[in-house]
Parts: sequence; C-alpha cells; structure tokens
Amino acid sequence: METQIRHRLVLIPPPFQGHLTPMLQLATILHSKGFSITVAHAHFNSPDPSNHPNLSFLPLFYGLSDTHISSKNIVDITATLNTKCVSPLKELLVDQIEKANKNHEKIACIIYDGLMYSIDSVARELNLPNIVLRTTSATNLLTYHAFFQRQSSGCFPLKDSMSLELVPELEPLRFKDLPIFNSDIIQQQIAKTLAIRPSLGVIYNTVDCLEEESLYRLQQVYKVSFFPIGPLHMIAEEYSSSSTFVEQDYSCIGWLNNQETKSVLYVSLGSIASWDEKELTEVACGLANSQQNFLWVIRPGTINDVSEWVQSLKEEVKVAIAERGCIVKWAPQGEVLAHQAVGGFWSHCGWNSTLESLCEGVPIMCQPHFGDQRVNARLLSHVWKVGLEWSNVMKGDEIEGAVRRLMVNQEGKEMRQRALKLKNEIGLAVKGGSSYDALNDLVKSILSVNL
Ligand code: UDP
Repeated sequence: METQIRHRLVLIPPPFQGHLTPMLQLATILHSKGFSITVAHAHFNSPDPSNHPNLSFLPLFYGLSDTHISSKNIVDITATLNTKCVSPLKELLVDQIEKANKNHEKIACIIYDGLMYSIDSVARELNLPNIVLRTTSATNLLTYHAFFQRQSSGCFPLKDSMSLELVPELEPLRFKDLPIFNSDIIQQQIAKTLAIRPSLGVIYNTVDCLEEESLYRLQQVYKVSFFPIGPLHMIAEEYSSSSTFVEQDYSCIGWLNNQETKSVLYVSLGSIASWDEKELTEVACGLANSQQNFLWVIRPGTINDVSEWVQSLKEEVKVAIAERGCIVKWAPQGEVLAHQAVGGFWSHCGWNSTLESLCEGVPIMCQPHFGDQRVNARLLSHVWKVGLEWSNVMKGDEIEGAVRRLMVNQEGKEMRQRALKLKNEIGLAVKGGSSYDALNDLVKSILSVNL
C-alpha cells in the first residue's frame, strides 16, 4: 500500500513580539488544518516549545551579536537579520528537505514574515512554494506605496502646511499619518519588502469587514493571491500568552474580578513604545484625577524602580494608585481585554493590540507613537469610529479629560456600542464568513501545488 505523503510547512518569524505572536498563531491554525509545522526562530526572543507541543522548533542563526540585540535598534537589527540569515536558512531548508524525503514528508511551503525580505531569493533558489505573512494592516501597506510615489515628486520633508491635508487616495488619512522614512536604510528595507512577490500569495492578519477596500487595492498592485484570514488570535483561539517574552502577571485578573463592569481603563503601549519618567508622572496624575479604575502595564526597563517612583508621587496620586489602580510589568492582554471589567484601552495602536481590542468590543484612547500606529489610530478614530483622537499632550489635565471622554462621556458610550457591533461582525467573518473562506482557500492553494 502506498504511504501518504505528509505536508510540512516551515514558518520563519523575526524575533519581535508583534511579529512572532501572529506567526505562532498562524502555525497553530495550519497545524489544525493537518499540516506538520516547523518554526525556524532566532536564538534570542525565542518561543518556548513547551507552550506549543504540536509544533517543531529549530534555531536559525540570524547573525546578531549581543550588542546588536541590546541596542534595540529595530532597523539595524532587521538589516542584519536579512543579510546574515540567508546562508544558514538555505542550509536549514536543504537539511529539512532531505529529512522530509526520508520520513514520507514534503516541505510543501515556506511562510515568512514580510520583514524578512531576503528569504524571497532563498525560496526561489530552492524552488520552494512560498507565502508572505503581513502583520500590519493592509491600509498601512498602501501608505508605503503612497510614500514612495510622493517622495519622487519631492513631497518630503513635509511642509507644515501640508501635514493636515488629506491624502487623496487614502482619505481619511492625512499626510501626517503617512510613515515618513527619513533614512536611506529604512527606505531600502521598505522598498525590498514591497518588492517581494511570493509564489503562492500573501496572508494578511486582517478581516474583510475592516479593510475590504484596502485589500482590493493591494490586490491590484500585487496581482498575487491574497488571504485575509485574521484576526489570527481569534482563529487560533490563542492569545499572545503562549509566546510573550516577558512573564505575564495573572494577579491582575484577580484584581479585575473585583472591579465593576466596564469600569477599568487598560493602559499599555505594547512591547516597544514607552513613556519617560516625566511622562509617566503626568500619566499617573491624569489617571488619578480622572477618578477611573485603571490597570497599567509598565514594562521592565521603562523605569528603574517602579515602587520607588510611586513613592515619589504626590500623596493623592499615591492614594489613587493604591485604591483604584493596578500596575503590572506585563499583562495577559488578551484575557484582560476580554474581561467584563475592562471598558476602555489606552493604546499605542500597534496592529495586534488594535485587533485584540476590536475583537473584544473595547474602544481605544489612541496614542500612536511611530510607524503604522498612526495609520491604525486614524482608522480607529475616523473609519471604524471606535477610537478617541485627543491632543496626545502629556499633561495631567489633558490626560484626565481624554480618559473621562472615553470612560464616562456619551462619546465613549457610543464608541463602545460601535465596538460591540464590530466585534460581532468580526466574529461572523471568523465563524463562517470571509476569514473562514480565505483560510480554506489558503489550505487548498498550498495543497494544489503539492499534489
Ligand atoms: N502584550 C501583552 N501584554 C502586555 C502588553 C502587550 O501580551 O502587557 C501583547 C499584546 O497582546 C500584543 C503584543 O504584545 O499581542 C503587542 O503587539 P502590538 O502589535 O500591539 O505592538 P508592538 O509591541 O509590536 O508595538
């Protein structure tokens, strides 16, 4: 009797939280569809295999020194990852292909993150079907194209008078929402990631009901198949908990259990953006004066000693933190946003945080810091109308006003209602609608080139 060949996929994430998490969620989803999965990961920020018993893990030499890693310079790290991973990845894949042959398996496809643009050439050389995973919004990718078109006509640096003007093909985005790549090295990286033409297509961690038009327009540009199968965490039924680099503090769930429904503002800037000590102090005053409950993530490394800093605050702020606040180093964000006590999220608007909040019907107080966050914030406030645009001025009274607008005022209540409606629409897309269909198309597409 002929033994059936099993299909193995090799997934290659870069070692950044906002990229690794969705790739691992994708791995879980594709495993549930019958594929064997190998994740080739860097030697730092690596996933814990014991959290993913159904997946195989292989360390891949990404060529980074400890100095590089501790520099936290994402642009520089990305450049190094791309130059140094090529030959070790080739070796790893050749080895995997040989092993697969011996085990009645076939490497059916490699799936890599769009940041890892140099893998495009490796896939071609080895003649392996390949797919790119895009972990930002589809609209964000369109802004990259808008940037390059405008750059050649001398639009940048942007004149002050233009910054509030709408970008005609991207309304309601303004010129100031576009990513401005002011160094040659970033421009080269973005140009390379836009040039990738994966043989089987592109997976987007987004949903048709959120970004139908942007997806359609990207399709016109790329002319390859596209699979909007998001939100990945919802399809995988797995939050980021199983892949976070910092240990999650579950004590905050106990604290949330004791708070009233929709009474808590969750405050977190994701894994990279941060406030300095002066800003943290303004945040503490604003939160205290808003009279709202708050769960606040202050990541390790943001400030030397959080308890000491709290002790240095004004007496009434200290009392507010003790009575109405909970500060943790890292929260189980998915579970937090799903908790009935949470009524709002003060976020940097990273794409994962944005999706996680939308899926739980939680409106967002937007404070984008850099990159795609400005685009996501504008989508939240002006397209889906579930995000609060405020001055972003880091002064206690501005913060207090914005928190009350989101948590107490009619404006916030209406956003919450719209967010709940969107949550339902996303749920339908996942259960049997557009994301469900796109996932089935993706599986069919991989199998069809591996008959
Ligand atoms: N996150 C978390 N606990 C925290 C803060 C963040 O688990 O205390 C997770 C969050 O759920 C999300 C990821 O970290 O999945 C942050 O990704 P995002 O794209 O929002 O922002 P980035 O960190 O890439 O700027």
